[in-house]
Amino acid sequence: MGPHNRTDAVISVGSNIDREKHLPEAVRLLRRHRAIDVVDVSRVFESPSVGGGSGAPDFFNAAVRVCTGLEPDDLRDELRHIEGVLGRTRTEDINAPRTIDLDIAYYEDVAVRNNGLSIPAPDVLTAPHVAVPVADVAPDWKHPQTNQTTYEIVAGMDTSSVKPVKGFRLSPVQKADDDWESERTEVYSPKLEGLVREQLLELGEDPGREGLLKTPLRVAKAMDYITSGYSTSLDEVVNNAVFDAEGADEIVVVKDIEFYSMCEHHMLPFFGKAAVAYLPDKHIIGLSKLARITDLYARRLQVQERLTNQVANAVQEVLSPYGVAVVMSGQHLCMMMRGVQKQDSFTVTSAMLGTFKNDARTRAELMDLLKQ
Ligand code: ZN
Repeated sequence: MGPHNRTDAVISVGSNIDREKHLPEAVRLLRRHRAIDVVDVSRVFESPSVGGGSGAPDFFNAAVRVCTGLEPDDLRDELRHIEGVLGRTRTEDINAPRTIDLDIAYYEDVAVRNNGLSIPAPDVLTAPHVAVPVADVAPDWKHPQTNQTTYEIVAGMDTSSVKPVKGFRLSPVQKADDDWESERTEVYSPKLEGLVREQLLELGEDPGREGLLKTPLRVAKAMDYITSGYSTSLDEVVNNAVFDAEGADEIVVVKDIEFYSMCEHHMLPFFGKAAVAYLPDKHIIGLSKLARITDLYARRLQVQERLTNQVANAVQEVLSPYGVAVVMSGQHLCMMMRGVQKQDSFTVTSAMLGTFKNDARTRAELMDLLKQ
């Protein structure tokens, strides 16, 4: 399924085992899923366990608004998979404490009840601990069966048992980097943040000193961004920007595409400029997409040679042109900072496919274009 028929949905999230860890990790795994875009994240709410008996630990609940190319049952399967990754085991006891619970609260205006798939989640109408977080991200969403908005549903409930949690915030989707106030209570990935903290300790640093207090959070988010190519698909990047161009028979070249990547040997940046060229066969692509395709593969742990080949192969896959050429010139901090290489030297890699590889004249034409 392509990105052109993406659907809005709301996922409700709950945990009452190690909830400070499992709730944010679940949201992070949603963010990193290739077929799921997180659009909005609710506040965190606390409420007593329903039906869990006295002594059952209280819950943290939240809701995540997403956009997805997955069909409802595939989305449900992916949520089950994420539950599995976070140690959920489903038992006969539906009220048993759980590391994580992920349910489809809403999926567009779909209403189904079969095969273990209930959309909207029945709890949206009956359980304040589900409805309140959902209303936080989708107040105007109309319940497909009752036609009430989530706001109206919540307004008709006794919500006194559901309290917003102070001092514990899931990462919102968009935020300024220097937004210190919001970072103070923000939790992104307890696991990754813990590893960064350990690394700081191992390096002889004091993770408790002021300048480093939020470093684990920032590093975790930066690393996820820098490797976000893993959670993005080529389909999503191209997004139907391929056009018919029957008569086009000239080389198309985009030069000076900036790229930033991470060498997989040292996890240090390498960066530079790319030139991407192709000789069209009936199809062309929006020029900005060549830069987006470069980013898609640059935002991973890479070696420059593989990055160059992957960009070329992607253009080949998307356009089936007569030929593709990619030339990348990069500087590698792992060499520059460690003094292995002169500071001003560049690594140049190239990938030639089709007519650029086989035909000397076409290749010579390309070289002329690259020199200009
Ligand atoms: Zn390296």
